[in-house]
Amino acid sequence: MTEKTLIKNINIVNGGQIILTDLLFDKGLIQKIGPNNDTNARVIDGTGKYLFPGIIDGQVHFRDPGLTHKGDLYTESKAAVAGGVTSFIDMPNTFPNVLTINILNEKYKIAAEKSLANFGFFLGVNGDNLDEVLKLDTSKLLGVSDDGLYFTKKGNLLADNPETMEKLFAHCKSIIAIHSEKEQIVEENEQLYREKYGEDVPVEFHPLIRSEKACYEATKRAIDIANKHKARLHILHLTTEAETHLFRNDIPLQQKNITTEVSVHHLWFSDKDYQRLGTLIKWNPAIKTEKDKKGLLKALLDDRIDIVTTDHAPHTLDEKQKPYFQAMSGAPIVQHSLNIMLEFYKQGLISLEKIAEKMCHNPAILYQIEKRGFIREGYFADLTIVDLNAPWTVAKNNILSKCGWSPLEGTTFQTKVTHTFVNGHLVYDNGQFDETIKGQELTTQNNG
Ligand SMILES: [Zn+2]
Repeated sequence: MTEKTLIKNINIVNGGQIILTDLLFDKGLIQKIGPNNDTNARVIDGTGKYLFPGIIDGQVHFRDPGLTHKGDLYTESKAAVAGGVTSFIDMPNTFPNVLTINILNEKYKIAAEKSLANFGFFLGVNGDNLDEVLKLDTSKLLGVSDDGLYFTKKGNLLADNPETMEKLFAHCKSIIAIHSEKEQIVEENEQLYREKYGEDVPVEFHPLIRSEKACYEATKRAIDIANKHKARLHILHLTTEAETHLFRNDIPLQQKNITTEVSVHHLWFSDKDYQRLGTLIKWNPAIKTEKDKKGLLKALLDDRIDIVTTDHAPHTLDEKQKPYFQAMSGAPIVQHSLNIMLEFYKQGLISLEKIAEKMCHNPAILYQIEKRGFIREGYFADLTIVDLNAPWTVAKNNILSKCGWSPLEGTTFQTKVTHTFVNGHLVYDNGQFDETIKGQELTTQNNG
């Protein structure tokens, strides 16, 4: 059972403003925002703290089923909740790849048993299952994506297959979220560097191999095809300043057919960090230059970029610490995404209201998630309390991802998540977990 709870005297960050007041919730839903003295409720003193709607992370790889030596829906959702994330959308490159409705439903079943946060899943799409996908009522899906499927089979990237994109974009009614790089350009670059360095290419060349050109050309072409068919295209994890100019900010998110996101690590790291961190920060698409990093933040602030995600992708340290071509791409980061964004706030680069917009409100709008993403009466009590003056340092002993390491180890954050409520249930309380109640399936305006 969730407990009736009154958070007293807290700064509520919501809907473009910050209001100091009280908040009451019961039976999983927000009951009342405003001065309150309910005597039957558990009281949490919010003095000096800030309350955000729970973070909705639109792109994670929780590895379950099939890759659970890296992470699973229990361990990674636990890391998420400790970082203030109350809902996530997971990618289709688990094993078996999520290429059928049965496999998709199986993931929902596993999550209902294991996940501490609310969950949604993409249906995978590639050239092989395209006809099957188009037989479905795609308007009922949360979204389809090709992300990560290229690890299973070369040629799986939609960005490399204009004919598949044409057909998909012409007929698919759900959001189509794509990993936007031209593999052909990447392969040509790989060949060049292989000739020069053999198998052990210095990782600093990663952003020149998975180059700006590979990203830009893929994104440009995908947008052109989507516009032609009025498809609902979402470009995942944007990494270059150049691409930001392909997106608009002259209409509200609700009216956009083409949307995009930035993942926190592309705002946090730049190519200067390869020397220090090596393949630990090998991501696809790659961490690029300082100029790209700044351009991405600028586009986030002026609304050409709509949401912030993590692309949380745990691998074992062993899988990461290999020569360039063998080292896995991706890293765990879901536990620290809010801390990263709040660090930018501390540096005067972004407001708290904008963080709530990009991490909470907009993901709910973009994926049409019902009754979440905002602090509103009648909405689910997905809530995160943060202390903006509580420095702590990321270290092995406080990393919750199953893989047990982070590219952020040694980083001191000025802010700390103290409480996370999922559907009104206090899952995370100052380092302690109550795992008695699991998260729920995200519902959308489409699937009710
Ligand atoms: Zn991804």
